[in-house]
Amino acid sequence: MRLQDYDKKHQYKARVVATDRITPTESTEEVRDIVLQLDDSDFSVALGQNIGVLAPGQKEFGQDRHFRLYSIADLAETTSQGNTLVHICVRRCSYIDEFSGEEYRGVASNYLCDLSVDDTLFLTGPYGQAFEAPEEPDTSLILIGAGTGIAPFRAFIKHLYGKTPQFEGQVRLFYGGKTGLDLFYMNDKRNDFAQYYDVQTFEAISALSSRPHWSDAIDWGSALESRGKELWKMLSDSKTFVYLAGLEVIRDELDVVFARLAGSAEKWNRRKAELVAGERWIELLY
Ligand SMILES: Cc1cc2nc3c(=O)[nH]c(=O)nc-3n(C[C@H](O)[C@H](O)[C@H](O)COP(=O)(O)OP(=O)(O)OC[C@H]3O[C@@H](n4cnc5c(N)ncnc54)[C@H](O)[C@@H]3O)c2cc1C
Repeated sequence: MRLQDYDKKHQYKARVVATDRITPTESTEEVRDIVLQLDDSDFSVALGQNIGVLAPGQKEFGQDRHFRLYSIADLAETTSQGNTLVHICVRRCSYIDEFSGEEYRGVASNYLCDLSVDDTLFLTGPYGQAFEAPEEPDTSLILIGAGTGIAPFRAFIKHLYGKTPQFEGQVRLFYGGKTGLDLFYMNDKRNDFAQYYDVQTFEAISALSSRPHWSDAIDWGSALESRGKELWKMLSDSKTFVYLAGLEVIRDELDVVFARLAGSAEKWNRRKAELVAGERWIELLY
């Protein structure tokens, strides 16, 4: 769906209650965990959903507001006064104009990363398909998150192990970043996943770029192939769900790797079509 087609009629005022950089200062990436408090009790979000942020635009260019989406990065909490707290994980974006060669700052991500505690902003939504916790307790999950795509899985895993005691399926979380510093929520600054390392059914496997200074892509091949047999067994089981989150490029990168695991592109395309048809292949890509 195009950004202009989202329903933005209901706008909610929110206040920043915390904003923390979650990448070490040595990292070239600035990623922030931002906590927003909403006064309106009508606003509720589910795991896997996104909220809309309305960043101020330049009125002289006819742009009143810029609308962007951000994934929910934690379980929604309610304060003692009954206000909803929502976490988002935002990467400060910039891009190089291919004609002028100049670097431009992304509008909404810079607006959000520059906000201070007590600043207010307007939100819309929530939107998107919720990540439903599997009904059957022995369902296996393959979770693949790249960059800020780790955000929804942080909430999902917290939900599985904190709120779903009957859940006993295997969980394999593959998380990608250019370097170890860019593994958000899993670096020296914050390691929110460490609390699950003792859980027998949970395993987190990192995927890094083999030559980050050459802008090489994340090496999903080495990470997934190190678990090739196990993954293919899980993918062949009718109880396995696969969740993908992050930038859209990972869809094609992963298809190449999964085709190798399957033995051929045809075999993988057939398996993936079955997973999609059974609603067991769930994407949150952007
Ligand atoms: C469903 C959905 C969920 C999203 N969830 C998140 C999220 O949890 N966290 C988050 O930071 N962004 C998320 N995004 C991206 C976000 O909506 C914005 O596109 C992003 O913040 C850039 O907006 P901007 O106005 O700053 O920059 P723009 O001026 O719109 O563009 C900046 C440049 O950055 C690139 N870019 C956009 N997002 C990223 C990213 N996350 N990592 C690397 N490059 C990127 C764009 O391709 C573009 O070249 C999500 C997008 C969608 C559609």
